[in-house]
Amino acid sequence: MDSLYDVAIIGGGPAGSTAATLLAQKGRKVIVFEKEKFPRFHIGESLLPYSMAAFDRLGLRAKLDAMFLPKYGAAICTSCGTGAVKFKFKDAYRVEHGNAYQVTRSEFDKVLLDHSTESGATVVEQTAVENLQIEDEGIGITIKSRGAEERVTARYVVDCSGRNAVIGSFFKLKKSYSHLKKFSVFAHYENVAREEGDEGTYTRLVRGSDRWFWMIPLSRTKMSIGVVMDIADFKALKQGPEEALDAMLREQPEIWSRMIDSSRVTPVYAESDYSYRNRRLTGARWLLAGDAAGFIDPIFSTGVFVAIESAGYAADAIDAALTNPRCRARVFKRYARATNRVMDLYLRFVSNWYRPGFIDVITQPTTRFQLAPVVNSMLAGNIEKSFTLWSRMEVFYFVAFLQRYIPVCRRHSLLPKASPSLGAAAIRSPEILPAPRSRP
Ligand SMILES: Cc1cc2nc3c(=O)[nH]c(=O)nc-3n(C[C@H](O)[C@H](O)[C@H](O)COP(=O)(O)OP(=O)(O)OC[C@H]3O[C@@H](n4cnc5c(N)ncnc54)[C@H](O)[C@@H]3O)c2cc1C
Repeated sequence: MDSLYDVAIIGGGPAGSTAATLLAQKGRKVIVFEKEKFPRFHIGESLLPYSMAAFDRLGLRAKLDAMFLPKYGAAICTSCGTGAVKFKFKDAYRVEHGNAYQVTRSEFDKVLLDHSTESGATVVEQTAVENLQIEDEGIGITIKSRGAEERVTARYVVDCSGRNAVIGSFFKLKKSYSHLKKFSVFAHYENVAREEGDEGTYTRLVRGSDRWFWMIPLSRTKMSIGVVMDIADFKALKQGPEEALDAMLREQPEIWSRMIDSSRVTPVYAESDYSYRNRRLTGARWLLAGDAAGFIDPIFSTGVFVAIESAGYAADAIDAALTNPRCRARVFKRYARATNRVMDLYLRFVSNWYRPGFIDVITQPTTRFQLAPVVNSMLAGNIEKSFTLWSRMEVFYFVAFLQRYIPVCRRHSLLPKASPSLGAAAIRSPEILPAPRSRP
């Protein structure tokens, strides 16, 4: 390890590896510090079609096509069974790619990080960034690896440390959204029934009155299943994650009826997922990207998309600042504006998801005024600045707002319909004994 780098990156998740590869491809001297040893478990498994352009830019498309399950769309249904909608990405407004991927993150993140090394970046795993010293000409970084401390200097730092948000915590920049204090519990299962053909690759969301569930097919036989709810509601259950997940799945015929022959093959994981944003995304010598910049509730699977997108903008901004230091303030400002804009778009979408009426409207789509293709396009990751996109989304939000007060369309109860006679022990006992990772 040398002592001076153009760019140091904290964290080797999708944001960190994307920034590292792009900067290394531009000939910059880059080092990535990753505290874990890859492959490591991570949640966030369903990707969006608009990330395909970034994978092309990274030079990874062929490899990812060969490794991961294509995802052709998403389906949303209500627990009461009266509402359901399918969004096929190919039908979305102006969509360029008809599919994304469903990925096992341990494998996906490793492919991306290995690609950073192959592109010329230095990647140091099992090395945590412990401290930072901001200086005029760069940032001193104190790292800790197997008990030993060391110091390196970089002209710029990109914080891609995910929800650890190293720099956001260092400068106390994190601001959480009080209406999005959520908690999630999840696990992987084998042999959950799914649709035939392309629809069998869709992410399926099941919306209950005070919680929502995801079903994400990860391979031809494996599926990720989880639930998100208010942290206060989870605490009120007075159950551990494993017991709670099992009980909540049993209450949902829309899910449980597909799990008759399934077995759980991982421990049940539990994570708080509070949405937050940092008040600033840049300093004179640093930028925040991915979850380290802000985290938005995962309902629309936007996390990895935003991580990769913001990391791409960050790499371009730093490359420009290294080439011409006088443009630094301008390009960093542009970076913050672009990244905040993307997060604002999805924050609004997510906040509406939890408001009454929204689920009624989204599950009864109309093609009038191109509403369905435009909503589909947002779900695919279309963030272009276009009048059509903006105006149709405004109409959509307005109809959802009206639905709260006047029934524009059918209202769903969101209460699970009576369960068909499913045996109490429908899911086979887990092959791996659970070891809940954390509790709220
Ligand atoms: C319940 C849940 C479900 C989700 N579902 C989806 C989904 O379906 N689709 C989707 O796109 N997103 C989803 N997400 C969001 C997704 O997980 C994240 O948005 C995504 O992983 C962000 O990538 P990142 O690179 O910014 O951070 P991460 O992937 O978290 O990577 C950060 C890396 O930094 C490392 N690190 C942390 N601190 C340090 C340190 N001090 N020194 C060195 N290294 C450090 C970590 O070990 C980690 O490897 C979900 C999130 C949750 C909580």
